[in-house]
Amino acid sequence: MLLPLLVAATITVAATTTDLRDLVAAVGGDRVRVESLTHPRHDPHATEIHPRQLTLLGGADVLVRIGLDHEPWLARALRATTRAAPGAAPRDLDASRAVTLLDAETPRLRADRRPHVHAFGNTHYWLDPENARPITARIAETLGDVRPADRALFAANRERFLRELDARLVRWRAALRPYAGTRVVVAHDTWPYFARRFDLVVVATVEEQPGIPPSPRYLGALITRMKEAGVVTILAEPGAPAAVLARVATGTGARVVTLAPSVGADPEATDYLTLFDVNVRRLAAALAR
Ligand SMILES: [Zn+2]
Repeated sequence: MLLPLLVAATITVAATTTDLRDLVAAVGGDRVRVESLTHPRHDPHATEIHPRQLTLLGGADVLVRIGLDHEPWLARALRATTRAAPGAAPRDLDASRAVTLLDAETPRLRADRRPHVHAFGNTHYWLDPENARPITARIAETLGDVRPADRALFAANRERFLRELDARLVRWRAALRPYAGTRVVVAHDTWPYFARRFDLVVVATVEEQPGIPPSPRYLGALITRMKEAGVVTILAEPGAPAAVLARVATGTGARVVTLAPSVGADPEATDYLTLFDVNVRRLAAALAR
């Protein structure tokens, strides 16, 4: 039986997020087995390592990550994995190198004790669907390096995915066009890429710094500012601190709209494309009221 030898083994990919996992799956198709190292309902900037992550990293041919300081747990996890299997480090794809970052020039202090986030630019760049274009290009290139015989297949898969993305982009933009220029406040600074793509204006964040809860004094000033600017919409994600948001909402009369920051963060956001279907629909419905 020579036949099994002709069937190439699947490429095993560990992606640090469900969003990257889906983009890898779109390009790799049945030639890859890809899993996310994190759960979308957990804090993406958390620092602890789970045993499952070590297992996935240990067996991965390719690691696809958000990069910058988005995954403070990853360096330690990789070190632990490398100790378990010397010389078996996966091929590394840092997706942040494929996109143009926002806020990369914003000077931020780096705290020693708490996980500091967005110190090198805002890391939530997958929330601009246009960024799927350069990210999937990099994924196709990397998978093609691992499996040159499948380069054309990866390119074709990517083209098919981008055609669907383009079709939906037309619909998403049309759905939000009536609300262009709407000023919003955000819980965590998750939405600058999404806001830029769909012409929303982020006025302020409820967090005083990324990852750092607001002081009462900061909240007071925020409420005053929102009332002056007439901001009536707060964009949040499922993990955002409900009590703080409720206080701002009560103080301003604004409404909290909870969006899905990642695939799987909302049950309806089942893949990268439905992530935007859900967010666009929910936001348009909230802004229409
Ligand atoms: Zn963040």
